Amino acid sequence: MDADGEGRESVEGLDVVHHGNAEAAHVNLRGDLNDFQEIDLLGQSRKLVLAVREMGAGVEEIDLEMGPGDEDPNFGPGNSEGNEPQGLLDLTPKQQPRKKKKVVKKWRDEWAETYKWAYVAVHENTPRIFCSICKEYGRKHRRNPYGNEGSRNMQMSALEEHNNSLLHKEALRLQMASKDKGLGLVDRPLYIKAHMSKNAESILEAVIKRDPHEGEFIQAVSEVVHSLEAVLSKNPQFVHILERLLEPERVIIFRVPWTDDKGEMHVNRGFRIQYNQALGPFKGGLRFHPGVNLSVMKFLGLEQTLKSALTSVNLGGAMGGSDFDPKNKTDNEIMRFCQSFMEELYRHIGPNQDIPCGDIGVGAREIGFLFGQYRRLTSQFESMFTCRSLPSGASQLRLEATGYGLVYFAKEILADMEKDLKGLRCAVSGSGKVAIYAVEKLIAFGAIPVSVSDSRGCIIDEDGFDFAKLSHLRDIKNHRKSLREYTKAHPRSKYIDDGKPWGVKCDLAFPCASQNELNHSDAMALVNTGCKIVVEGANMPCTTDALEVFRKSKIVYAPGKAANAGGVVVSGLEMIQYTGRRQWSADEIDSKLQEEMKDIYLKCKKAANEFGIGVGNPESLVHGANIGAFLPVARAMLEQGCV
Ligand code: NAP
Repeated sequence: MDADGEGRESVEGLDVVHHGNAEAAHVNLRGDLNDFQEIDLLGQSRKLVLAVREMGAGVEEIDLEMGPGDEDPNFGPGNSEGNEPQGLLDLTPKQQPRKKKKVVKKWRDEWAETYKWAYVAVHENTPRIFCSICKEYGRKHRRNPYGNEGSRNMQMSALEEHNNSLLHKEALRLQMASKDKGLGLVDRPLYIKAHMSKNAESILEAVIKRDPHEGEFIQAVSEVVHSLEAVLSKNPQFVHILERLLEPERVIIFRVPWTDDKGEMHVNRGFRIQYNQALGPFKGGLRFHPGVNLSVMKFLGLEQTLKSALTSVNLGGAMGGSDFDPKNKTDNEIMRFCQSFMEELYRHIGPNQDIPCGDIGVGAREIGFLFGQYRRLTSQFESMFTCRSLPSGASQLRLEATGYGLVYFAKEILADMEKDLKGLRCAVSGSGKVAIYAVEKLIAFGAIPVSVSDSRGCIIDEDGFDFAKLSHLRDIKNHRKSLREYTKAHPRSKYIDDGKPWGVKCDLAFPCASQNELNHSDAMALVNTGCKIVVEGANMPCTTDALEVFRKSKIVYAPGKAANAGGVVVSGLEMIQYTGRRQWSADEIDSKLQEEMKDIYLKCKKAANEFGIGVGNPESLVHGANIGAFLPVARAMLEQGCV
């Protein structure tokens, strides 16, 4: 082992990398399998990487290649007592006596029931797979918890159990299907959790089986289910609640016909996912973007449900939008599209029913048109669209709230480390509503934001943006020009065509553009720049692979559902202001927003702590956010019965 606890050693010709001590860790198996010909599971299992993780304090991890393993002490040759194990795992098929097969089947069936089969720990500097019940490994694992008959190579059994699981097969099938059909799922390998409890695994399997092509939704669900394992094992009554939570209450899909300025007709698809109403009226954004589909809408609906639950505002979760691309459309075309969209949507929304707001591609202009058509169709001037402009009854700071709240959240993380934003370099992606106001607040706190980006490229300004430069950036975006324009006035900056900002030297990163914008190589680049904290402004901007890099590199990572909840907070304040027919000043709203972001941060920390996930765990905010959000929704759903 080297000084920082990382070590590399050779086990039976295989290179084994292990990081520190991993006591009572859980096991996570992931594979990189390329085509159908290669699905020889036992053969493939040798290539699988065993990653070990634990949610509790003192988290460490081990990555090891599966190698030749222990021989069965009772039935195999050389089974004398006290023999030292020969290696980690023997995967070569062996001739087994009949008696053994029978025993193994019974053993496996019983283990399948509990499915808490193994953990990995370092024993005498060697990573070993231990039986989680008798706490022995390999040859020393003399008996299983049910009697005397099980002393088979337990690693083998565990691997077979995993490889035979529906989850594993489904994941392989998905990978193949996505490769064949160009669905783009291959870049986002699924979390395959051989170590999941039976409950968690079967919940995830059911989701994958039901909607196998919904990559984004499955990705979001995987993270949530993983975080909730500890909750489910302590509160089995929540298993069915979680199953229900993973199915939206209502999915509305509709046709949106519209005509362009030349009189040509077009058709787009409209969505509204009324995800969960247990805590209050459905609430969530509308997104107009060609990438909109059912999977994206559902994942955003789930995220929104959990996000609302973290705030003190009583709201549920929803999401909607269309695959309509507002880029290069005239104002009249946008207006006609919005009116046609609302022609259907108005039936499903209302102040006590469902409250939409903006998201990607839906800003003040679109909200204005949507609200106008809603008012016309219903004859109601209702406070049921947030993100409006001030004359239509919006709150002060609603537009700024998500970006400002994001920076307030980062400030809380830093305060816990006894640090301050002042002088810290911040990489920001996106240049929309969230990113621009985050940059504004970073400048106000004396931080040095050094980048913004859009769908065409990114600007790096190593000197950092100030208010004058920010105003220039705003002007460029308001006129829908290329960010390249910025370099004309600021020649020391550089524009990277089609580039991302994650290679710039920074202390903090704020991905604020879109889902899965930050992948494995971006995460590696960030680690190399010295980044220590990632705070998500967008919803699920980091791929599963990227999160794995952050976890291994001990980068603190704040999930969007907590860090970007500022918009929901001010939407809630907006509704209170409307019903009270009074307005709070910008300063009043700002201080309420700061307080609320601090509360959300503390809520995440507290929930993580209660379930044994210490602050030292770089994922503690993720688990804390999922647990802290799930519990109030689950309690409300339990109270309201099976609806
Ligand atoms: P926005 O105003 O439309 O801005 C989105 C920005 O991201 C634009 O600069 C856009 O570039 C860029 N972008 C979009 N897709 C991209 C891609 N695939 N690669 C690179 N850049 C991309 O949207 P927003 O309201 O700021 O929302 C940004 C994110 O924050 C979304 O994930 C949204 O769900 C989340 N969020 C928003 C709010 C809110 O209150 N608005 C609240 C919570 C979370 P172009 O300008 O070239 O299109």
